[in-house]
Amino acid sequence: MTRSKGQLLPRDLTRTYPRIVRGEGVNVYDADGKRYLDAIAGIAVVNVGHGRAQVAEALAAQAQTIAYVQSSIFDNQPAHELAERLGRFTPAGLNYAYFVSGGSEANETAIKLARQYHVERGEPSRYLVVSRWQSYHGGTLGALSASGITARREKYAPLLLDFPHIAECNCYRCPFGLDYPTCGLRCARDLEVTLKHVGASNVSAFIAEPVVGAAAGATVPPPEYFPIIRETCDRYGILFIADEVITGLGRTGRNFGIEHWNVTPDIITTAKGLAGGYASLGAVIAHDRVRDAFVKAGAPFVHGYTMVSNPLAAAVGVAVLDILEQEALVARVAALEEGFFRRGRALLKHRTVGDVRGKGLLMGVELVQDKASKQPFPATRRVNAQLAAICLKRGLVIYPGGGTADGVNGDHFLICPPFTIKDAELDELFTLLDESLSELEEGLYAHA
Ligand code: PMP
Repeated sequence: MTRSKGQLLPRDLTRTYPRIVRGEGVNVYDADGKRYLDAIAGIAVVNVGHGRAQVAEALAAQAQTIAYVQSSIFDNQPAHELAERLGRFTPAGLNYAYFVSGGSEANETAIKLARQYHVERGEPSRYLVVSRWQSYHGGTLGALSASGITARREKYAPLLLDFPHIAECNCYRCPFGLDYPTCGLRCARDLEVTLKHVGASNVSAFIAEPVVGAAAGATVPPPEYFPIIRETCDRYGILFIADEVITGLGRTGRNFGIEHWNVTPDIITTAKGLAGGYASLGAVIAHDRVRDAFVKAGAPFVHGYTMVSNPLAAAVGVAVLDILEQEALVARVAALEEGFFRRGRALLKHRTVGDVRGKGLLMGVELVQDKASKQPFPATRRVNAQLAAICLKRGLVIYPGGGTADGVNGDHFLICPPFTIKDAELDELFTLLDESLSELEEGLYAHA
C-alpha cells in the first residue's frame, strides 16, 4: 500500500471515526447526514450547545480586530473583560484569573503557582502535589503525575514525578470496605495520614475534582468530605486546588462544584465549558491570598505559554458567559437534575447497571457483572467500549471509562449533555441508552 504524504495521526490508529461536519443544539451530524445525539456535550465542553451563532460572531469580530498579542509585552481588552466577567461566577476571594489553552495547562500552571507561592513565602521545601487515586487532572507530565488513573499513567510511569496519592472517595466501592457515615470519612482522613508519611513540609498542594469525571464516573463525596480536606490543608499550610475542568461553570447546578460543600479553595482550575468548545481556553483562578504572596515578594510568576491571555479565546469566553447568564443556564441545570437522575435511575432495571450517580447534569453509570457482589467485568472484555460502539451505531454519544473498580477492571460511562437540552431530547437520550444497554446485554449473555 502506498502512503500518501500528510496524514492525520488519529487518537487510535486501529479505528475509523465518523466525520462530523455540523452541529446544532444537542445534535451533531456526520458527512453522510447521520445524526448523533451528543449526550456528553463534546465531553462536558459544549455546555451552551452546538452551532451557537452568537459565539461564532464574537469570534469573527475579535479575529478582525486583534487575534493575538504576546502577554509578556502587551495587554488586551478581552482578557480583562473575561477575568471581570468570570468574577461574577467565582466564590468570594477567588478574584485573579490566568488564562491558558485548556485543562492540562491550567493544572500545570496551578502546580507551579502553588510551588512558587511557597517559595516566595520562604518555604522552598514545599513541592509535592498530593492527589487521589481514580482521578484525572490532565495529560501533560506534571498534571498526569498528579492524576490517579492507572491506564493513562501506566505507559509513561518512568516519566512521572513521584507525587503521592491518597485513597479515592467512592461510597459505592469504599477503598477501606467501610460504609458511610460510620466510616468516619476515613478517605478524607487519608490526607493527613499521607502528609505525615511524606512530611507535610514537603507538600505544596492537594488537588481534587469536586465530582470526579472520567476517572471514576461522577463519584460524589458526602457533605463532610471537603470540609475535612480544607481543614487538613489549613492545618498543614497546604494549598487546596479544586480541579473544576469538568465541574466548573454550571455543570453540577452551581457555578462551581466545590460550592456544594461550602468550601473555598485557594486555586480553582477550569476549562472545557469556559469557551464551550468554540476556542481553546482554560483558566487558573487564584485566591487573593495567593496573589498577595507574589505582590508582597515583588516576584513575577515565572511561568507562561505563548497563548496566555489569548484575546480570541477570551472573546469567545465572554460570549459563552453571556449565554450562561442570558439563558440562566446554571439554574436550568439545577432544575433539570431531578428529571435527569429519575430517568438515569430507571436504568438500574438492567442487570449490568450497578450504580447511577452524579450531580446536576453530570451522571456516571457503573456497569457490573454481578449487582449483589458488585463484581466488575474483566477489563479484557472491554464492556465499556462495546456499549459505546452500540450507542454510536444507534446515534447516541456516551463517554466510556474503565478501571473503575480497582484501577484495572471496572466499566462506567458518563452522560453530561448540553445545559440547553430539552425534555423531549432527554427522553430520546434515555430511550436510546435503554435500548443500547439491552443490546449489550443480549450480546454479553447470549451463551449464558
Ligand atoms: N481535569 C479534568 C477533571 C478533566 O476532566 C480533564 C480533561 N478530561 C483535564 C483536567 C484535562 O483537560 P484538557 O484535556 O483540556 O487538557
